[in-house]
Amino acid sequence: YQARVHHLVQLIKESGKTVALTGAGASTESGIPDFRSQDSGLWNQVDPQKSVSIRALKKDPQSFYRFNFQWWDVCLQAKPNACHHSLARLEEQGWLLGVITQNIDGLHQRAGSQRVWEVHGHLRSCHCLHCGRMFDLARLKVEYHCTCGGLLRPDVVLFGDAMPEDYYTAEQVLSGCQLLLVIGSSLQVQPVAGLPRLARRVVIINHDPTPWDESAELVFRESAGQVLADVVKQLGNNTGPY
Ligand code: NAD
Repeated sequence: YQARVHHLVQLIKESGKTVALTGAGASTESGIPDFRSQDSGLWNQVDPQKSVSIRALKKDPQSFYRFNFQWWDVCLQAKPNACHHSLARLEEQGWLLGVITQNIDGLHQRAGSQRVWEVHGHLRSCHCLHCGRMFDLARLKVEYHCTCGGLLRPDVVLFGDAMPEDYYTAEQVLSGCQLLLVIGSSLQVQPVAGLPRLARRVVIINHDPTPWDESAELVFRESAGQVLADVVKQLGNNTGPY
């Protein structure tokens, strides 16, 4: 393990442009279950494609919001863990350009990361499907209709949605990327699962196998928080190219 951490530190030092791509596994150490690990409670009983889809929202908004607030509330109350703190530190020290995240929990920003691209949206707001008016997400706890009567939807990407602007920015950010750290993502949700092709080298930090393991420079099965904290420790007070 130490040899692989050392190797990763060398790759970061050699790279002129390093970016992180995080998934739900970056936040499990904060107590938020992911979708695809075995025994992650909520998601063993339901199919996310069905319960987190625009179709489900339109069909039965009450059930949609009752179900989704079960895990959104966990996201909203969670605190950043060693993975988020370490990525914020790497950015602060100039080793990391920023974080592309599939997570909607906002924990990277809360840990201090400045450049975060939220390719699956966030839990800060919602808007009206009819007139477009925006509200805080909290409004949905008491009312899921707009003042105009239209249905409110959260600003998270649901199955069946188009990708938000941050996704296209993320593709641009990856142009010329020499090292992509994929952290806590099963890389099974498209189009994000295809982003590693845009980077020259890929390092995977994920408990379970991913489709990119074979072409990756390095693979860690250890916990994201531990691996990244060890990387930060080894880099010490040295500063990077940013
Ligand atoms: P996923 O559930 O498909 O995969 C998570 C991966 O992380 C798994 O392969 C698991 O082995 C690994 N993992 C779990 N804990 C880990 C740890 N501590 N260290 C290393 N690896 C760990 O997640 P995904 O690829 O992000 O796709 C799920 C989708 O669901 C995303 O699009 C995301 O928007 C959404 N989601 C978000 C949150 C959140 O915001 N925190 C939580 C659940 C789901």
